[in-house]
Amino acid sequence: MTARPPLIAGNWKMHKTCEETEKAASALVGLVKDAAVEVMIAPPFTSLVTAADALKGSNIALGGQNLHWEPKGAFTGEVSAQMLISAGCTHVIIGHSERRQYFGETDETVNKRLGAAVAAGLVPVVCVGETEAEREAGDTFSILDKQVQKALEGFSFEPPAALIIAYEPVWAIGTGKTATSAQAQEAHAYIRGLLEKSIGKPAAETVRILYGGSVKPENAAELMARPDIDGALVGGASLDPEVFSRIVHYKKG
Ligand code: PEP
Repeated sequence: MTARPPLIAGNWKMHKTCEETEKAASALVGLVKDAAVEVMIAPPFTSLVTAADALKGSNIALGGQNLHWEPKGAFTGEVSAQMLISAGCTHVIIGHSERRQYFGETDETVNKRLGAAVAAGLVPVVCVGETEAEREAGDTFSILDKQVQKALEGFSFEPPAALIIAYEPVWAIGTGKTATSAQAQEAHAYIRGLLEKSIGKPAAETVRILYGGSVKPENAAELMARPDIDGALVGGASLDPEVFSRIVHYKKG
């Protein structure tokens, strides 16, 4: 075991009914039972309990795709950390670029959601990444500075840190354009440096930094071979259990 066991996580986004979830999650249990890495899936809220039942006794963890920072209250359409936990989640995705782009997510709300996740003992998967225009303008690192620093403001983590960062260049999400492994490694190493400044080197060395953006069975091994790429957050290619399992088994080729 390394200090950072790789994690392959599937973000199902707004896909799969309860029936479809039952079928896909059950199939995945068999396909990844001998995985050499950690595995997590994040189905829609409505499918979490169904997924939890299907995953019982398996090596697959369950995550939510978002959470609200308040424990309860008049927040129509939101779910709390305890709701996710009672549905069977151990992980939660925070600040996905689709939430930032379409639902008004900001670095400040990411920071608040992180607080709720940490307080409840959920492992947060905090998403960061630049848009195409930001990369072309040479702003990738300054965007990462802002997103990582603001997300982590006020937090400290003891090693091994129960924190996961997902570097997801927005231009690579759902577009079929993958960052090259060199581009991804450069961004991941930069993020690790930011983590060192925010939470100290010993904790930063234990934070898994996942790459996300058109990861497929064909490019997973090359990405994962880079020293600061500790796994993947997979969108489209996580919806088909067989395809996703080939990413999970990237070491087998
Ligand atoms: C994602 O949405 O987190 C993602 C990486 O999507 P895709 O793999 O489809 O690019």
